[in-house]
Amino acid sequence: MKANIRILTLAAALCVGLFTATAADKHEHKATPKGGRLLDKTEPHAEFVVEKDRTVTINFYNEEMKPVAATTQTVSVQADAPGGRAKIEFEKKGDSLVSKTKLPEGDGYNLVVQFRQTADAKPQNIRFKLDLATCGECKRAEYACICEH
Ligand SMILES: [Zn+2]
Repeated sequence: MKANIRILTLAAALCVGLFTATAADKHEHKATPKGGRLLDKTEPHAEFVVEKDRTVTINFYNEEMKPVAATTQTVSVQADAPGGRAKIEFEKKGDSLVSKTKLPEGDGYNLVVQFRQTADAKPQNIRFKLDLATCGECKRAEYACICEH
């Protein structure tokens, strides 16, 4: 009887494990508090937000998605805009990193976020398309959409 209980417990634990893994896969892009895009594999989580004036803010969050201050991270963005390629530099402002210039005119062009955890760390390139249209399902901007499509 004891053995049976142990097997059942193990089976239950396995089910929970499988379920968690599947749920995590489905939500590739977690919802971020300021409506931006969560940058993959950043620790603490970095959120890329396009502001109304087309400047970009990078906010940081811990595992519980509570805001934390930027520390040693540095970011630059390359925008492959229709009018030409632009490089956008960032500076620290309060707890966040903010862009010194605005995103170039247009929409639907590719962005490469070059993210460094520390000044001498290997840069991490995060690529995605700028899409400022609003998603009909999650009501977030498409570049920050958390739906499965
Ligand atoms: Zn969506």
